[in-house]
Amino acid sequence: MGSIASSGSRVARTFDLAVVGAGIAGLGVALAAARAGRKVVVIERDSRANGASIRNFGFVTVTGQRGGAHWARARRSRDIWAEIAPRAGIPVLQHGLVMPAYRQEAADVLHAFLRTEMGAECRLIDRAEAIRRLPLLRTEGLREVLFSPHELRVESREALPQLARWLGAALGVEFRWNTTALSVEDRGVATSTGFIAAAATVVCPGDCFTALYPDVIARHALQVCTLQMLRVTGESAPRMESVVMSDRSCARYEGFTALPEAAALQARLDLEKRALRDFGVHLIAVQSSDGSLVVGDSHVYGACAEPFARAEIEEMILAAMDEVLVLPERRVSERWTGSYAYSPTRAVLVERPAKNVRLVMVTGGTGASTGLALGEQVVADLFHPSAAIAQALQ
Ligand SMILES: Cc1cc2nc3c(=O)[nH]c(=O)nc-3n(C[C@H](O)[C@H](O)[C@H](O)COP(=O)(O)OP(=O)(O)OC[C@H]3O[C@@H](n4cnc5c(N)ncnc54)[C@H](O)[C@@H]3O)c2cc1C
Repeated sequence: MGSIASSGSRVARTFDLAVVGAGIAGLGVALAAARAGRKVVVIERDSRANGASIRNFGFVTVTGQRGGAHWARARRSRDIWAEIAPRAGIPVLQHGLVMPAYRQEAADVLHAFLRTEMGAECRLIDRAEAIRRLPLLRTEGLREVLFSPHELRVESREALPQLARWLGAALGVEFRWNTTALSVEDRGVATSTGFIAAAATVVCPGDCFTALYPDVIARHALQVCTLQMLRVTGESAPRMESVVMSDRSCARYEGFTALPEAAALQARLDLEKRALRDFGVHLIAVQSSDGSLVVGDSHVYGACAEPFARAEIEEMILAAMDEVLVLPERRVSERWTGSYAYSPTRAVLVERPAKNVRLVMVTGGTGASTGLALGEQVVADLFHPSAAIAQALQ
């Protein structure tokens, strides 16, 4: 598809779809549209993806996601990642999720989770299996360990650029880097480097609330959530087959917190170390190919991203890590912050400012896990709308 419109000596390329933003949401839309045979252009203001999508853990999480449509999106995204990663030359570095419980209240949450539909393919594992998957696991005080088989982990800072390169080489997606989208018109996008003609447009602006459709975004009273992240190295960290989270994650992730059993855990954690809860500190630790761990995170909410990483939050993240992992001679080798759009009520926000335009935001910290399936749904909603798709995007 796509067409060349000529007027006199001027020849203008018309795309079927322009996508604003080369984060995972934008690339998910571009992937789905290009696979459906559409001619796609991605417009990105930076010279490469530079937002949340390259600052995250690269952790494609299923277990722990909000139940219902969002959990289904995470499962579908995981399947898409599993399918395209080998084709795109993106290494999958870890498989599965280990959730150790050190407090009885956390063990109770894990047992309750296993009784839900979402827990059907998860299971409790014994210490030997837990240590095989995570040789660094602290076993003292361990009550229960849940294993989820669904998860994948990629190195986002390398995976996102590689995904963009593959979309170009394999599926003919064009990229306009260093190009800011200034406004969306009926027949395309006005940008800082000229007009790009397109029959339809999807805007995936991440946590930029003021450039495109600021009035539409303002209606949803979104906040920006800032996270602190660390890369931690230690004396010969052994291979971690799976990603690890902790009791604290059972008190934060909606798939767990929706369970009645989570209230007792939250109350206990509030009493034990209130500051960690106030800064939304919990544990995700993933491992890179050089053996170093990416460890986080914290959550601070405001009107814009926090530019400054705080030493006290870093210490809290390390304390959360030390509860679960034994890493001798650990030291922090890298620090960064990242931010995403946040809504206390919605997991995703899809608006339809015009028949041929969609505004798409992941309004929580789950875009790495859900962005590829969200892209499929948005492309379906744009080109083949149905009540079922509209319902899934609520
Ligand atoms: C530290 C951190 C850890 C996280 N960990 C996880 C995790 O483990 N698992 C998980 O599922 N999720 C995680 N998340 C959340 C996930 O990273 C985000 O939900 C996701 O990356 C959002 O993707 P996006 O494409 O919407 O936004 P972004 O990645 O922010 O991309 C938006 C892009 O749009 C561009 N843009 C904006 N406006 C314009 C314009 N007018 N013109 C041109 N370009 C424009 C920006 O430059 C940017 O590149 C984490 C987030 C952070 C910050």
